[in-house]
Amino acid sequence: MAIRQDDNRPNRRFGIINLVLIGFGVLLLFSNFLPNQAAQVPRVPYSLFIDQVNDGHVKRAYITQDQIRYEITDAEEGAPSVLATTPIFDMDLPQRLEQKGVEFAAAPPKRPNFFTTLLSWVVPPLIFILVLQFFARRQMGGGAQGALSFTKSKAKVYVPDEESRVTFADVAGVDEAKTELNEIVDFLKNPERYAAIGARIPKGVLLVGPPGTGKTLLSKAVAGEASVPFFIISGSEFVELFVGAGAARVRDLFEEAKKKAPCIIFIDELDAIGKSRSGSMGVVGGNDEREQTLNQLLTEMDGFSAQDKPVIVLAATNQPETLDAALLRPGRFDRQVLVDRPDLSGRKKILDIYANKVKLAEGVDLDKIAQATSGFAGADLANLVNEAALLAARAYRTTVEQGDLNEAIERVVAGLEKKSRVLQPDEKKVVAYHEVGHAIVGHLMPGGSKVAKISIVPRGMAALGYTLQLPTEERFLNSKEDLEGQIATLLGGRSAEEIVFGEVTTGAANDLQRATDIAEQMVGTYGMSDTLGPLAYDKQGGSRFLGGPSNPRREVSDATAQAIDHEVRGLVDRAHERALSILHGNRDLLENIAGKILDKEVIEGDELKELLASSTLPSEAVLTPA
Ligand code: ADP
Ligand code: MG
Ligand code: ZN
Repeated sequence: MAIRQDDNRPNRRFGIINLVLIGFGVLLLFSNFLPNQAAQVPRVPYSLFIDQVNDGHVKRAYITQDQIRYEITDAEEGAPSVLATTPIFDMDLPQRLEQKGVEFAAAPPKRPNFFTTLLSWVVPPLIFILVLQFFARRQMGGGAQGALSFTKSKAKVYVPDEESRVTFADVAGVDEAKTELNEIVDFLKNPERYAAIGARIPKGVLLVGPPGTGKTLLSKAVAGEASVPFFIISGSEFVELFVGAGAARVRDLFEEAKKKAPCIIFIDELDAIGKSRSGSMGVVGGNDEREQTLNQLLTEMDGFSAQDKPVIVLAATNQPETLDAALLRPGRFDRQVLVDRPDLSGRKKILDIYANKVKLAEGVDLDKIAQATSGFAGADLANLVNEAALLAARAYRTTVEQGDLNEAIERVVAGLEKKSRVLQPDEKKVVAYHEVGHAIVGHLMPGGSKVAKISIVPRGMAALGYTLQLPTEERFLNSKEDLEGQIATLLGGRSAEEIVFGEVTTGAANDLQRATDIAEQMVGTYGMSDTLGPLAYDKQGGSRFLGGPSNPRREVSDATAQAIDHEVRGLVDRAHERALSILHGNRDLLENIAGKILDKEVIEGDELKELLASSTLPSEAVLTPA
């Protein structure tokens, strides 16, 4: 049985409180006994008392509401001289006593004595506090922490030692993130150099990416590379039962960290405290606690500025869009590092890391495994290798074989299917053509964007693949041709599916939504329709800010409504025709790029540029200024 040292403290405090309580209880009892001292005085009948008064034997009497105590003059030897009797209602008594020359006095009206008053005020609250404390202790779970220590930060501290140190070598497939974080390592190692030149060391770095991609691992690696202590706490641990506890914990955490600086604080699940404050308005129930915690975090991050002893706050989230804008301001989490799911070569490297930890059979081909695990995050791959090792061990084999790995893929996929999408090979093919369709049309159409990257690595639930278009220049105004080009580009994915497979899938739903939105805005908001003229048919209402994409329409006649629908339809149809003719005209290129991307999953940079440069714009698809 392990008895934790901490257990003693709260118990002793408990004991003291109990002792005080018991003391008060005894006093209370005692004070109840006080009037009962009279019980020792012999009681006599009232008639005897009157007789004695009449006979002049009574020297003095003391009258209270429920007792008369009196002293007699001629008590016999050994007999008590003080007697008591119970008074009866007798208005003549004072007169009689006076006549006989008895010295008498009445007690003041009965008043609660000071002690009982005090006790009645002190004891109930004490009991109340005691009960509260009891529950608070249970609430803390385990009771290792005292009732009053719930404001202590629960951060765990790792001081990296040589053996358990995590380094960048343990993380693979996230090279861009590593490059960025390398800079942070340098800040932590040589703060003087930066301080000397007057450079401001960043305080906060936000790691953004889906679960299991190695955000926690990366921040541990930063601490490991820089050989500094590492505080780790989850956002949800800040926010608990007691209002104000979260804020106190933040304060405590930074207090501790400053003592150990230079060091790293890692806040996992930042979204648990950092949710947009305005976004949560109107939600019933207490966000106070979270808000206080968030405010405290912002205050602390603004507060410290010791250049030579940096405390760098790393945080992780998979919902960056929900974060409060205040968190992302300069001096806070102004750096953001994307930690994305690994591509083919990244997956191979991660598999290599974990395969090194198990015994692989001769001739196992990890490339094949990497190819079959599109969409897996680092954690899934680690899990996969472990599953394979378990399978091998169960079959009493001493090495992991290709078959084990293949079976493990299926197991992991089965577990993943609910969480995120894992593409089947035939789906992957559809996604490849779809994305290349977007890319070719996007390259040839105006709209101010250049196609920078095509990927068929699934990202979350919504997008199975994506084509990244980067604007070539800042643009505030779009011409009618630009917008028509954008619609055509959005329809490029579906058009490619039509051309290659002769049918369409559900994957294009989001594209169609956006294309239709643009067309509606062109007609209804921007007045770009020749037949309907420069009228704004959509009302710009406040509802836009509540996230509804569709504006309410102005009151229009049925005929106008029909005309609007007709125009919108016409815009989308023409764009579709354009996309189809572009893809028909570049059919070979479509096949070529799709084949490449099925191999590599990602095409970007110069390679993509060269491929797209060979595309041609058919004359019927040329957009002419109206
Ligand atoms: P996150 O914090 O992004 O949810 P973690 O860092 O907790 O993910 O990853 C969980 C585990 O998965 C890690 O401990 C590590 O074993 C493995 N892992 C995840 N990503 C990688 C990666 N890029 N390289 C190597 N291992 C990884
Ligand atoms: Mg994590
Ligand atoms: Zn698409």
